[in-house]
Amino acid sequence: MSTIAFIGLGNMGNPMAKNLLKAGLTVRVFDLDTHAANLLGAEGAYVAASLEDVVAGADTVITMLPAGEHVRAVYLGDHHGGVGLLNLVSENTFLIDSSTIDPGSARLVASEATKKHLEFVDAPVSGGVAGAQAATLTFIVGGTDQGFAQAQDILKYVGKNIFHAGQAGDGQMAKICNNLMLGVLMSGTCEALSLGIDNGLDPKVLSDIMLQSSGRNWALELYNPCPGVMDKVPASNDYHPGFMGKLMAKDLGLGMDAALHSQSAIPMGTLARNLYAFHNAKGNELLDFSSLFEFYRDKKIKKGK
Ligand code: NAD
Repeated sequence: MSTIAFIGLGNMGNPMAKNLLKAGLTVRVFDLDTHAANLLGAEGAYVAASLEDVVAGADTVITMLPAGEHVRAVYLGDHHGGVGLLNLVSENTFLIDSSTIDPGSARLVASEATKKHLEFVDAPVSGGVAGAQAATLTFIVGGTDQGFAQAQDILKYVGKNIFHAGQAGDGQMAKICNNLMLGVLMSGTCEALSLGIDNGLDPKVLSDIMLQSSGRNWALELYNPCPGVMDKVPASNDYHPGFMGKLMAKDLGLGMDAALHSQSAIPMGTLARNLYAFHNAKGNELLDFSSLFEFYRDKKIKKGK
């Protein structure tokens, strides 16, 4: 059985690491936030004090970090004296990064890993905190055929659908396209529900109607943004926990970077990114991304008239 070093134990990393423990794997954990790491200690993981400590004896590393800068710092080292993982792991250690980051950073880490004869795959996920808890995540893997095969052997414990998108960085690119679509769908869903409420409709009835009509989408089906319409979603728990608005803005920004690179037009994704920028700037960046609904419900302008 594998020994996993799991780094980054936030909203997603916590339930993923728990599922690896449940599957009977040995799990070593590290997070800069010691409270986050200690939560896994209580579940039976070894809580490491450093990167060097967490990878000792591990044959597989999984990282679940916020953004490209964190992934580069953890794998390659940083300017503050931090030594990168690529210099700390033992021979044949398999490396999986499940964070959502820019494809360029994923390709850079993959090529540096190759220089050290280490296999690295980018394997961002879709499915949210609920998918992580239920071990039903979708993994979108970029890397070699061998890397993909190795990744499947581990990711089957935390996910349900595991896709091979292509070479290094292609997993990230596919994930960015998916999240651009998600940002647009969530914005549209918030907008339609808010319009209905303003015109006297019950949001639960309207949601049921749209679910059986052509407006049906993932947000309506599994993640309704209007509080009280659906149980066990962030909207019905003050928009906690979940996929933070700042992370959605980051992902839509990654879509804009990619579009600049390929000279693609992405007006919808750009608009969604700007909606999140406005919403986050009002102090909502740590709330789940479905809290964009509150941006549409903000009646201050009307009241001030
Ligand atoms: P999070 O902010 O809740 O967790 C990130 C964790 O990484 C934090 O506990 C933080 O302390 C830790 N960390 C940061 N830098 C570190 C370092 N140098 N060393 C060790 N630990 C470090 O974020 P999350 O919601 O778990 O998301 C993680 C990644 O997954 C992001 O890239 C996000 O875009 C992606 N993602 C999130 C969701 C979701 O629903 N939350 C869904 C799909 C993908």
